[in-house]
Amino acid sequence: MQKIPVGVLGATGMVGQQYIALLADHPWFEVRYVAASPRSAGKSYAEAVAGRWQLSRGYGKGVGDLIVVDANDVQSAVAAFKKGDCAFVFSALEMSKDEIKALEEAYAAAGIPVVSNASANRWTPDVPMLIAEINPHHADIIPQQRKQRGWDKGFIVVKPNCSIQSYMTPIWALMQEGYEIKRMFVTTMQAVSGAGYPGVPSLDMIDNIVPYIGGEEEKSEQEPLKILGSIQGGAIVNAVGPIVSAHCNRVPVVDGHTACVSLEFGDKKPSIEEVRAIWSKFRALPQELKLPFAPEQPIIVREEADRPQPRKDRDADKAMAVTVGRIRPCKLFDLRFVGLSHNTVRGAAGGGILNAELLKAKGYL
Ligand code: NAP
Repeated sequence: MQKIPVGVLGATGMVGQQYIALLADHPWFEVRYVAASPRSAGKSYAEAVAGRWQLSRGYGKGVGDLIVVDANDVQSAVAAFKKGDCAFVFSALEMSKDEIKALEEAYAAAGIPVVSNASANRWTPDVPMLIAEINPHHADIIPQQRKQRGWDKGFIVVKPNCSIQSYMTPIWALMQEGYEIKRMFVTTMQAVSGAGYPGVPSLDMIDNIVPYIGGEEEKSEQEPLKILGSIQGGAIVNAVGPIVSAHCNRVPVVDGHTACVSLEFGDKKPSIEEVRAIWSKFRALPQELKLPFAPEQPIIVREEADRPQPRKDRDADKAMAVTVGRIRPCKLFDLRFVGLSHNTVRGAAGGGILNAELLKAKGYL
């Protein structure tokens, strides 16, 4: 099969580097276009990331020689699109929300689909916010999005915040089995790579915890409602619950966001054994379709008293699985557990690639 040529916007950053590394051997997609800030533009990719490549894996054959383009220059991407070097782009840009929103819309208007990691378009009503195992059907708003915007081939899909991925799939698996969740109390311990590169200064992070991540608690409380919402009249309408109360903390871990979660169910409450069984057997559309980046087992249940742990569990199943453990009764609500996922893979580039695979399987790419 001939691979689909793709572009990465923000290719030199923390998430962009993950895209480049994860796509190195991808069976469907091949990176042929890289873009970043004007600071990197004009350099070869190898020069642009020299001294700041953060991963143990390298980049794919040929990528080091690609010339980095200014991501603000949409016309260069259009030229690459016409040349057959860029059928769609992954967006991993870090700029102001307004700038990213305008830029992603300019790419889509120019006919280039955008699979984004940025938060700028998460609350645009006709833009689906996808976790492929939970709301793949939200992708079917794309024809309405195109029609409403007058876009021909372009569209925008986004993925949600990285930390909620550590518990949203387990929550969804329980809801699927008929267990209503009324309220959730979540405390996250989030890795420093979540702040991009160079990110939080080392003197703020070593021997320390920072009990504040700007905007993160609001995202954690609101984004689940859009993911659990429904398409109505050309927009995604939020679900009314569950009510979420979030405390988000930055901790001195490199990769892997951990979340301690307490759940309050409606009238029907599962036993601990049922919860374990539901999570272990949970499979969804990406697994049915055997998408290349889909974890075989989306939720891995650990029985040990001291798991999950970032260093030991973040790489589970291509770093795409959510690992849960410490499942036990809660004295305030009904159930407590700890969830963990890899923030720059499952929570960012890997999740974006899985979304693109889903869009291809659905015929949108
Ligand atoms: P990052 O390491 O700071 O990388 C930012 C990227 O954006 C770099 O490629 C940078 O290019 C480019 N850029 C910066 N200013 C630009 C400008 N004015 N014009 C064009 N390009 C510009 O950030 P990151 O952590 O990878 O995050 C990227 C996006 O993913 C953000 O929107 C973030 O919210 C989202 N996200 C991150 C994570 C995570 O775990 N890190 C998880 C989920 C979502 P230069 O290298 O040339 O400066």
